Amino acid sequence: MKTPSSLEELIGALRCLPGVGPKSAQRMAYHLLQRDKPGAQRLAGALQSALERIRHCEKCNSYAEEAICALCRSPRRDPSLLCVVESPGDLLMMEQAQCYGGLYFVLMGALSPLDGVGPREIHLDRLLRRATDGLVRETILATNFTVEGEATAHYVSELLRAKGIRVSRIARGLPVGGELEHVDSGTLAQAVHERRDI
Ligand code: ZN
Repeated sequence: MKTPSSLEELIGALRCLPGVGPKSAQRMAYHLLQRDKPGAQRLAGALQSALERIRHCEKCNSYAEEAICALCRSPRRDPSLLCVVESPGDLLMMEQAQCYGGLYFVLMGALSPLDGVGPREIHLDRLLRRATDGLVRETILATNFTVEGEATAHYVSELLRAKGIRVSRIARGLPVGGELEHVDSGTLAQAVHERRDI
């Protein structure tokens, strides 16, 4: 029997998720249709509404529903500190570690020339404008300690130092090859505390 085309389309669509091959896409589709129709409805609705509403904050580039997110608008944050992270997940980790009271810039990736990710893809022009707004006194690089994260930190530090901005890198309490998202908050807090100028 031939798979109905809308089912085929669903299976194909599920394969856009990372790590999902044809078999698991099929399992997911059957599960949603047979065992969890309300769950499937909710998923479809949430996806649709997120796609319509979520955009990038004009200041920090993280996900937001407003032009400028709540964190960037908060009067309690120190505008003289700007922390650069790779992803919204890393920003969340920093916030959970409660070790930092400044503002952020989210690159939404890291430099990876082989994958076609260059300075433009990680919005370095916007970061440069953001870091030279006259209020930022120090930019803290909290990219991952992976090859890409280190290369990004190096590139960004050269870029910002050429403009006379003080740049620091969080300390290596984090393991080599480590990703911020998988580090406990104590280690991350220590790394921010022991950051060094680069
Ligand atoms: Zn923001």
